[in-house]
Amino acid sequence: MKYTSPRGTRDLLPVESAIFRKTINKLLGIFNLFNYQELTTPIFESSGLFERAVGETTDIVEKEMYTFKDKGDRSITLRPEGTASIVRAYLEHLSEFQQQQVAKFTYVGPMFRYERPQTGRYRQFYQLGVEAIGSISPMLDVETMIMGIHALDSLGVKNAEIAINSVGCDVCRPVIKEQLKEFVGSIVGDLCPDCQNRYENNPLRILDCKNPKCQTYFMGMPSMSKALCKECNDHFICVLDQLDENNIQYVVDPNLVRGLDYYTKTVFEIRSMLLGAQNAICGGGRYDNLIAELGGRKTPAFGFAIGLDRLVMVLNQLSLQPATDLDIDVFCIGLENEAQNKVFQIMNVLRKNNIKCEYYFKRNSISDGIKQGLLFKAKFAIILGEEEIENKKITLKDLTTKRQNSYDSIEEVLKVIKG
Ligand code: ATP
Ligand code: MG
Repeated sequence: MKYTSPRGTRDLLPVESAIFRKTINKLLGIFNLFNYQELTTPIFESSGLFERAVGETTDIVEKEMYTFKDKGDRSITLRPEGTASIVRAYLEHLSEFQQQQVAKFTYVGPMFRYERPQTGRYRQFYQLGVEAIGSISPMLDVETMIMGIHALDSLGVKNAEIAINSVGCDVCRPVIKEQLKEFVGSIVGDLCPDCQNRYENNPLRILDCKNPKCQTYFMGMPSMSKALCKECNDHFICVLDQLDENNIQYVVDPNLVRGLDYYTKTVFEIRSMLLGAQNAICGGGRYDNLIAELGGRKTPAFGFAIGLDRLVMVLNQLSLQPATDLDIDVFCIGLENEAQNKVFQIMNVLRKNNIKCEYYFKRNSISDGIKQGLLFKAKFAIILGEEEIENKKITLKDLTTKRQNSYDSIEEVLKVIKG
């Protein structure tokens, strides 16, 4: 084969595309109940947006972005995540939303990261995300996490686990960093080269290292929550209490940080034990500084993104895929010219009645037409041969029972097809 899809990308073939589409629609329906509106932004942005939002010393910005110069010599980056673009659009166009106590947006589409491809980790992957901008209330954290669980529940995914932590704010983050540096200081030489680099530039990122050897060193790390300032601690406790009130199961993971620098206070991940190493299907948290970082007024916010590729893997493993409806209802066969014209009129009527049909373009023979109909997994065939044209009849064959009958009008045929 001459060309294959680029490393780390894949084609979503029709069955998988249909599962994606249905899953997305279902989740958007749930988000709608929580008053989220869809916002669609470009797939690429000025590189500076992500450098600023995600953080210069994150793995994403340092190693994973698809950045190039366009023909006008601008530095462009294929989006590695969705939040930065939503905030950019919010500040650029949505002043009416800025009046509201909270503005809620949802987005869906491909994201691009130059990562090492493996199961559940691709260079082009799909996220369905939400951003709620404007409220500092811990109830926003709780509502958004409830929505994530509700969304997964609606698909039948019931055994996912929420891991939650607080990464503090501008006041307590320096204390957390110092505490971490102190703990890691004596073992830093044993950590991977990336972690040694992080130790200098972005110590909190160390905890996000995917290297299992590094992870073993982090057990027994002093808990971050002990270093939280009063405001962050109160916020965290309130979130946990309210999750309890709402019967949401969670585990506090004191080493949970996220791969993006903009998070403050609450961070969380929803994990599925079915996925092995790449087990996070949803990740997010609060980001109270990002809007100001990108030039707006200081505005608190909370969001998450679901990794659709991994979510669909879970659905497949649990045999919970939505029905894909790729089969057709009626295969329509008309051989002679007059029959062809009639069949086209019949198909117009069928389609206006929401019946999915396909035409037998080959026009070789009725038996070959039936074979084609079976390839398309049609339930019925409509046959207009010489006899039917002569007697002004329409033959309808049930391709499961193989029984057939002739009718005088399309209305009668419709009745049978609709059952
Ligand atoms: P991970 O820890 O697995 O690298 P992350 O912390 O980088 O994830 P986020 O940036 O928070 O993930 O994105 C949210 C979700 O998007 C993840 O929970 C995951 O389901 C999905 N995701 C992230 N990166 C990839 C990827 N390269 N391929 C497939 N899905 C991904
Ligand atoms: Mg990652």
